Amino acid sequence: MSRFAELASLAEELAGTSSRLKKRAAIAAAIAKVQAESSQQAGLFAQYLAGLPFAEADNRKLNAGGAMLSGIVKEISGAADVTMSAAYRKHGDLGAAAAELWPRLAESEIVLDELEAAFAASSSARSTAARKHVLTELLRRATPLEAKYLLKLMLGDMRIGVKQSLVEEAIAEASGTEVRAVRNAVMLEADLAGAVERAFTGTLAEARMRLFHPLGFMLASPVETPEEAVERFASTKESAEAADVELKAEEPDPDIPMAEHLPVEALRIEALVEDKYDGMRAQVHCGVDGRVAIYSRNRDDITESYPELVEAFEKVSEPLILDGEILGWDIAGRRALPFAVLGTRIGRKKVNDAMRAQVPVVFMVFDLMYAGGELKLDLPLRARRNELEAVVERISAVTRSPVEKAAGGLFASEEPDVERLILSPSFVVESADDIDRTYRKARERGNEGVMLKAMDSTYQPGRRGLMWMKLKRELATLDVVVTGCEFGHGKRAGLLSDYTFAVRGEGGELLNVGKAYSGLTDAEILELTEWMKEHTLEDFGHFRTVEPKKILEVAFNNVMRSDRHNSGFALRFPRILRIRGDKPVEEIDTVARVEEIYQSQPDKAGS
Ligand code: AMP
Repeated sequence: MSRFAELASLAEELAGTSSRLKKRAAIAAAIAKVQAESSQQAGLFAQYLAGLPFAEADNRKLNAGGAMLSGIVKEISGAADVTMSAAYRKHGDLGAAAAELWPRLAESEIVLDELEAAFAASSSARSTAARKHVLTELLRRATPLEAKYLLKLMLGDMRIGVKQSLVEEAIAEASGTEVRAVRNAVMLEADLAGAVERAFTGTLAEARMRLFHPLGFMLASPVETPEEAVERFASTKESAEAADVELKAEEPDPDIPMAEHLPVEALRIEALVEDKYDGMRAQVHCGVDGRVAIYSRNRDDITESYPELVEAFEKVSEPLILDGEILGWDIAGRRALPFAVLGTRIGRKKVNDAMRAQVPVVFMVFDLMYAGGELKLDLPLRARRNELEAVVERISAVTRSPVEKAAGGLFASEEPDVERLILSPSFVVESADDIDRTYRKARERGNEGVMLKAMDSTYQPGRRGLMWMKLKRELATLDVVVTGCEFGHGKRAGLLSDYTFAVRGEGGELLNVGKAYSGLTDAEILELTEWMKEHTLEDFGHFRTVEPKKILEVAFNNVMRSDRHNSGFALRFPRILRIRGDKPVEEIDTVARVEEIYQSQPDKAGS
């Protein structure tokens, strides 16, 4: 039986190692050692090391947040509030803080199977008290080092500089298989532990796509102008080769991207342009026994929030995975409603008739990830798009469902039911001029801007590359995460309405960059107040630190250098544009981006 102590000491060693190669070798050696005992244990070892209490394909949740876990730490350590706060402030991490306060237990016998059993019990516990009991009993037996990493694992972030991709490489190294084969199996089955077993039994090639777990979403990089988009596309090798054959005769300097040899007006690209919709990115899985699942970019299952989409997609009889955007939809006007309108439905579990009628939703599909029993990710966009068009034609007769015409429905239509699947219109563009024209039209239609997608590009799950670009001309905004909050004043007394927020530093650490209190509706503040209370890490009375999970998009007048916050920058007049329930914390903006915005200001200010 493999002991958790081994995993904890490996994690500690990895946290102190910066070399990726050394980390990989150490993980590979540890996996190989556990494997000698059993590949099931080696699987669990790899999964836990990657910070996953459950396999991704497994939709169970621990249901233990920071507030509950810090309560447990307090109970076991017997530490006073001030001591807890000081330790937390010192480390910025509950696990590390706990290790400092923990009873000096020298050894423990906790084995990986016990973690598995406790996590299962926590997930199925009927009450918070029962859940707390299970986790307390497990933690009580832990040494300080084990407590540190058990807590990190339960919070889903080991913070040892080891991404899942590195664990996948180590699995390949330990088992003498190809990294590509390991990654592929993990993507298909969403089960890292399962992939370890497959790697050691030579069955990686037998992994088959399982529907109903989210695949990574392909993302786009921002560009400021159509010219910049064209230049970037053309400087990728493929398009450079297609750009101009004559160039080759000149033997261009290999260090200079091909595109730089040509003026931008002369560059030719081949890309698809679509409107950039301001809704909620989503992946729809359907077509197996009437089952439908909808996943957000955070990989959350958001199916319950959109019953009308479920009703539409449950009639599809071929297995499909579709990528697109959920939009609030003005049925009569056939156009998207502003994000703020859809926003009232995001995160809502119970959707009543009035809400269905007031904010009708559609799924604007723009990509095909799986069909005909095969993943389509490796096909070029042009082929995926052709297949997508055929799929939409086949299923659009069934992907309809009724609008509840409850009294007061603002956008109720006369039709008995509504098309819920809409194929995103797309246009081929070849030049900066073409892009500019489509951009203007997109803005006229009320959309944010355009998305540009290279015609030959494959679908790269979870990547923000240069194959997709987003063009939206507006003042920069930042996606930030709330790290602390304060009670407001006046009419907001008693409400946690002032938010301190952070961006990501180079090493992934969170660095505060500002504080904002305007821009949200009363209802949103009320909801956030409840959330902040439940996810408080430290309570200093007027100020609380909270789990860094709520993402906000903030606008501001400019960026200043300042030592008020630990990022070294402060935002002037920040205001909250919206709560971004659709974005995971890994994707918030970085200090590098703040610096970039700072540098781009004509009159940079210090304080
Ligand atoms: P951002 O959230 O600013 O990083 O922009 C990326 C987001 O654009 C994606 O997650 C999608 O939700 C959204 N998006 C809107 N329209 C499209 C489209 N036509 N193709 C791809 N993504 C889109």
